[in-house]
Amino acid sequence: LNTDISRLSSADKEYENSIRPTDIDDFSGQPQLVENLVIFIKAAKMRSEALDHILFHGPPGLGKTTLSRIVANEMGVNIKETSGPVIEKPGDLAGLLTSLGKNDVLFIDEIHRLSTIVEEYLYAAMEDFKIDIMIDSGPNARSIQLSLEPFTLVGATTRSGLLTAPLLSRFGIKSRLEYYNADTLKHIIFRSAGILHTKIGDDAAHEIARRSRGTPRIANGLLRRVRDFAQVLNNGAIDIAITKHALKALNVDEHGLDEMDNRILSCIIDKFKGGPVGITTIATAVGEEPGTIEEVYEPFLIQEGFLQRTPRGRETTEKAYIHLSKQPPAKGGQ
Ligand code: ADP
Repeated sequence: LNTDISRLSSADKEYENSIRPTDIDDFSGQPQLVENLVIFIKAAKMRSEALDHILFHGPPGLGKTTLSRIVANEMGVNIKETSGPVIEKPGDLAGLLTSLGKNDVLFIDEIHRLSTIVEEYLYAAMEDFKIDIMIDSGPNARSIQLSLEPFTLVGATTRSGLLTAPLLSRFGIKSRLEYYNADTLKHIIFRSAGILHTKIGDDAAHEIARRSRGTPRIANGLLRRVRDFAQVLNNGAIDIAITKHALKALNVDEHGLDEMDNRILSCIIDKFKGGPVGITTIATAVGEEPGTIEEVYEPFLIQEGFLQRTPRGRETTEKAYIHLSKQPPAKGGQ
């Protein structure tokens, strides 16, 4: 199953948009974050001001884009969406910024991928709602300062560790999205099934929820595939039997771990006798960046009790051995 946003097909994106909540009341989970946002939005509206700049950080598929659109919707303003690697030069950013109306939202996904020169150009815009632009060229070239309408920058990133201190400091609101528990995911699955006019049993929804890696995008993706099986083999109704059959046919891990999760665990067990082993060593062994392991994969593995951090490095737990059908080392350590 595809969990990388940069590789979502246009059909995937269309599906996501069709079931994406647009109001804050339809957004499930992340209670603390939502509660705070509601206050900040109310306060900004009462003062007729732009909302403070917001940074949403956390693993992919947890609702950063969704929340950004909800923020704009609840503020009653327009949103322009772009992403870090798309803004190649300051001129591109200037074009976006000057097109914003009063209190509008500019959403920059993957904000950790902004080039240094574009990022530095953004500082003055965020701070003073002003930018310098070059007019004319050659000997007549000069820069003039342009005032912008007040706006809200909403940045999203899976890798907050890559953000520079000056950029971080310019966000008044920084919120981390957490993995969802099975009950909340179940609620999201029921809501999506309703939009899709699909009947789904309670235990079936629970089964999909607990195998979705704590991630709404994965839960919705699995629902869509299970629905196909139900359509062809079960007159469209999603019950527990068809769900188990479909998840097996789709090779979905019993605990919802993805391929990289399992690679990390197997690698620690097979190559490093279960650890402790340092993050950089693990990263080299599985061919991924240490920061990505630390910010995207490891938090879930730790939360679910497959991995633990010790002062000497990462260690796999007995649960990891059992999950991968491997023999745990004998206890006692003599
Ligand atoms: P991100 O930007 O963090 O990668 P998205 O906001 O694109 O994630 O969310 C991915 C999918 O999951 C969307 O289809 C969205 O509808 C759904 N989703 C995410 N969070 C929630 C939530 N809290 N409640 C309901 N659906 C959600």
